[in-house]
Amino acid sequence: MNFELLLDKLLGQREIIHEVECSVCGDFETYFRDPITKENLGRACEHCVYVEKF
Ligand SMILES: [Zn+2]
Repeated sequence: MNFELLLDKLLGQREIIHEVECSVCGDFETYFRDPITKENLGRACEHCVYVEKF
């Protein structure tokens, strides 16, 4: 599955808070929040195909 579609499915509407270096692969790990409530939604690394929902 396309990674963006996976994020849509798991996190829904979102905006990027910040990016950090992924501790596993060294690529970018992205943190997301809800664009309206500003609540943290989760984090994801596309390279690891990893999504964590908070
Ligand atoms: Zn990674």
